[in-house]
Amino acid sequence: MTQFCLQDDFVLILGTRGSVPVSGGEYLYYGGSTMCVLLCLAGEAVLLDAGTGIRSLPGELLHLPRIRLLLSHCHADHIIGLPMCPYLARGGGRLDIYAVQRGGLDCKGQVARLVSPPLWPVTPEQMPVETVYHTVQDCFRLGDVAVDVMEGSHPGGVSLFRLTGNGRRVVYMSDTVIDGETLPGLAAFAKDCDLLLCDGQYSEEEFRERPHFGHSSWDAAAKLGRLCRAKKLLVVHHDPWHTDDILKEAEKNMTDSYPDCGFAREGMAVRL
Ligand SMILES: [Zn+2]
Ligand SMILES: [Zn+2]
Repeated sequence: MTQFCLQDDFVLILGTRGSVPVSGGEYLYYGGSTMCVLLCLAGEAVLLDAGTGIRSLPGELLHLPRIRLLLSHCHADHIIGLPMCPYLARGGGRLDIYAVQRGGLDCKGQVARLVSPPLWPVTPEQMPVETVYHTVQDCFRLGDVAVDVMEGSHPGGVSLFRLTGNGRRVVYMSDTVIDGETLPGLAAFAKDCDLLLCDGQYSEEEFRERPHFGHSSWDAAAKLGRLCRAKKLLVVHHDPWHTDDILKEAEKNMTDSYPDCGFAREGMAVRL
């Protein structure tokens, strides 16, 4: 995996679920861990969010001198896995964490809200790895990867990330509303990307019941994917009430009309 990581550009889905982790036989196909995606691009190993899926970070990556973590926002489902990230237990490594300022808190302050006593016994600083925090704004660089940030539509705010390097472009849009108002801006941001990871927590009917919860529908994700001409679309942030049977049927309906899309599954790898 090390050679693979340094020489190839790929995405590995570590967690797919939104809101809370789920377990049980009806969740085995798509997975029950909350959002975490590993992106290896232009020689950089980048984690997108730190849900419970982060626990499955491949062991082959633990020797890397540095791993980056981009936090879309610090709702618990996107950060609760951080204390159990296997990389944090590695002596001599360095974890760089990036987040936009939210709620008057810088990056470190947001992480510390959950990952410190009394909600967690230790802070990241008490782990063997060095932790470096970066409070970012609308664009920054990770080595040879350029990162652009767009503000999404979500309670408390959310950062949508566009990562470009080595001639490839990946867009991560978890936890955001896609509707008539937001669609044009989102399509411009994600234009011609190689891979779009897009919130699709709800069916159309569920979205109509919860238009202000800060999430999108499967149909809206497909509409965005087509409009921005994403080479591939993966729907992420699956609703905790959606079993494998529900998601398989929805995925089939979507792929019947839009072949270059699918629903993210834990352990799925996409070569860019
Ligand atoms: Zn979420
Ligand atoms: Zn959220």
